[in-house]
Order: sequence, then structure tokens, then C-alpha cells
Amino acid sequence: MSVCQSCGACCAAFRVDFHPAELAGGNFAWDGGVPVDMTVRLTPNMVRMCGTDSAAPRCVALAGEIGQQVNCTIYHGRPSPCREFDVEHAACNRARQRHGLAPL
Ligand code: SF4
Ligand code: SF4
Repeated sequence: MSVCQSCGACCAAFRVDFHPAELAGGNFAWDGGVPVDMTVRLTPNMVRMCGTDSAAPRCVALAGEIGQQVNCTIYHGRPSPCREFDVEHAACNRARQRHGLAPL
């Protein structure tokens, strides 16, 4: 299991906003794209993953228990901010810290 599969902190720490063209059926959808009903529309050019703007954020697409075992239920169609985020990102350890996980 990769470190991310036993973490998931970044899916429950930050707003996840992206262009609606990445939604399912959109011109820039990754494999399958993001289901529209997992998002809220912010502007004509921006949507947000549901749950990521909550007081205790948690993306609606995240399954499992943070810090134990998690998976993204739309992994192959996940939006670009998620594709660009990994353990090399400066905010990785901030997310982990927020969930009481040791820095990498
Ligand atoms: S916070 Fe870091 S280690 Fe945890 S899932 Fe995100 S990228 Fe992976
Ligand atoms: S879409 Fe998947 S990878 Fe992106 S924040 Fe949600 S659960 Fe995490």
C-alpha cells in the first residue's frame, strides 16, 4: 500500500476547485471525468468538489478512514488539482499535520 493509500489527508484539508470542462462528458474530462452531482457550481468557469469547503473538509469522493486506509472513488476521473498534488507538494505535510499524522 502506498503512503497516500494509508493517508488521504489532502482530500480532507483543502478546497478542490476546477474547470467544469473536467466534469463527466466535458471536453477536458479525464477518464470518466468527475460526476456532476459530486460538485457545486461556483461560477460559469469553476466547480468545487462537494465537502471540500466544509468546516471539517472531506471530499465526497473519498472512501475509507483517513490515516488508515482510503481510496478516491473517482480516481481515474479525478480532477486536475488532485492529479497535480502528491507527496512532493509543500502542502502535503500541512494536510497530514492537520490530521495528526507525522510528516513525511
Ligand atoms: S497528504 Fe500527502 S501523503 Fe497524504 S494522501 Fe495527500 S499527498 Fe499523499
Ligand atoms: S476527487 Fe479524489 S483525489 Fe480528489 S480530493 Fe476527492 S477523494 Fe481526493
